[in-house]
Amino acid sequence: MFCQKCGAKINDEAVICVKCGCAVSGKSISGVQKDGKNWLVTLLLSLFLGYWGFDRFYLGYIGLGILKLCTFGGCGIWWLIDLILIITNSMVDSDGKPLNKT
Ligand SMILES: [Zn+2]
Repeated sequence: MFCQKCGAKINDEAVICVKCGCAVSGKSISGVQKDGKNWLVTLLLSLFLGYWGFDRFYLGYIGLGILKLCTFGGCGIWWLIDLILIITNSMVDSDGKPLNKT
């Protein structure tokens, strides 16, 4: 990820930017967050490519995406659960942000 203040590339686990020293935890800084991932894109990815975890990759869940890929969408069960979560708008991205329906 990148520092929201100076734009320097920083470690995903870092809590402060090594370049400018500002706090970089996305959850603690309000007002500067980007919009969440697009809901419709997530739905279509989940519907057509969910068996390979593409919806999870898109939302930033790389580990879960790989797991979903390897288990072929949890034999279809995980694929269905994720699809329902997205349809009911209960899915959030890896930063905890709700999906953007606009
Ligand atoms: Zn910085």
